[in-house]
Amino acid sequence: MSTPTTAPEPAPGDRRSPWSRTVRRTADGSLAVGGRDVRDIAAEHGTPVYVLDESDLRARARTFVTAFRDAFADLAGADVYYASKAFASVAVPRWVHEEGMHVDVSTGGELAVALRAGVPGQALALHGNNKSDAELERALRAGVGRIVLDSLGEVDRVADLAGRLGLRAPVMVRVTTGVHAGGHDYISTAHEDQKFGLSLAGGAARAAVDAVLARPELTLLGLHSHIGSQILDLSGFEVAAAALLRLRAEVADQTGTLMPELDLGGGYGISYTGADAPPAPDRVATTLADVVRRASAELGTPPPRVSVEPGRAVAGPAGLTLYRVGTVKPVVLDGGGERRYVSVDGGMSDNIRTALYDAEYTAALANRRSTAPAVLSRVVGKHCESGDIVVRDVLLPADVAPGDLLAVPATGAYGRSMASNYNLVPRPGVLAVRDGQSRFVVRPESEEDLLALDLG
Ligand SMILES: *Cc1c(COP(=O)(O)O)cnc(C)c1O
Repeated sequence: MSTPTTAPEPAPGDRRSPWSRTVRRTADGSLAVGGRDVRDIAAEHGTPVYVLDESDLRARARTFVTAFRDAFADLAGADVYYASKAFASVAVPRWVHEEGMHVDVSTGGELAVALRAGVPGQALALHGNNKSDAELERALRAGVGRIVLDSLGEVDRVADLAGRLGLRAPVMVRVTTGVHAGGHDYISTAHEDQKFGLSLAGGAARAAVDAVLARPELTLLGLHSHIGSQILDLSGFEVAAAALLRLRAEVADQTGTLMPELDLGGGYGISYTGADAPPAPDRVATTLADVVRRASAELGTPPPRVSVEPGRAVAGPAGLTLYRVGTVKPVVLDGGGERRYVSVDGGMSDNIRTALYDAEYTAALANRRSTAPAVLSRVVGKHCESGDIVVRDVLLPADVAPGDLLAVPATGAYGRSMASNYNLVPRPGVLAVRDGQSRFVVRPESEEDLLALDLG
């Protein structure tokens, strides 16, 4: 159960702020982002609309790259991969690559977008627990820097395919370490009952390593682990890293092959409502560098080059969704009291996370300032389901009325990328804003787009 609070005012530079860095209140009380007043954005481009703060996203990418470069300077270096699934249109992999990131893809579609963005194959990693032959072949032909193997059967599939193409495939083995993190804590189990990776405890990870070493078409770069998402406590990463470094040392001892790299995945949490303080990238980087330094010394193995894969922490806080209020309806609660249902012109088709994961968001009146008392409100969409909730509980001014604009912060990741056409609602466009300029990087869908797919 979430505690209803008022959206915090924009506070650039505050890690607890769910707003992107260029969000401001203008003199007459509306919100502006990227130097553009939300009233002008709504008037010119319509609502709902995803607004992406380009300079904020670029700054987050650069901060991760710098933090990891500095923290691992005395080790074997580090690379930061952007996880495309958080949000990728052609502009985003291009921006993050310009800021020094590499890019993770996990489907043919994400691969196509990254290549169209001009990211070189060598800077791409291909993930996925069920990659198709066509996806693997396109990745190999594009010269991807790494394919992360997720099952034993995939070892021979990739080796055979590389052999047919006359290539050597650089691969990593994805390991489930028994650490699963997300939300506020992590639990440790011997075997993970989930679809990803190869179990460390069960010996499947070691078997896959040996299978890779037996195939001359494959180059074994290293081990990979991704322990979860929206993680605020770094201890799970330390446990996973230490476990992978032990396996790496054991393989080196027994086979003579010292894997040069180690990938510790992504999952760094962000602030959705202002209540959480996410770990700063430089603290993440120094924490991981400390584990790698210490464990490598204890095991007597040279440290690997490390990579990490943030998605949400780069794109999430850079985006907000702008909605227009359609109806406002007071509902009397069982125990007495009242909750106001504020219906906006989007909903679970543009943000499924509240319905899917009970995710928490906040919302703010965006087109004006109000001194009316705050009342318990629920922001809901226009879909034909009672679970169509955008923000479960938030305090909004009592005078919020049809025609007002609401802004929901921290929707840059897993918003547009998980959007659907439920109720045949066209998906909103993604408007990039920067220095007072705006342009769509994904145009809004129209009803004609929907009908164009319909063969009658
Ligand atoms: C989803 C995913 C990520 C990114 O997770 P975030 O929570 O967006 O940082 C990184 N690596 C892998 C393998 C993933 O599946």
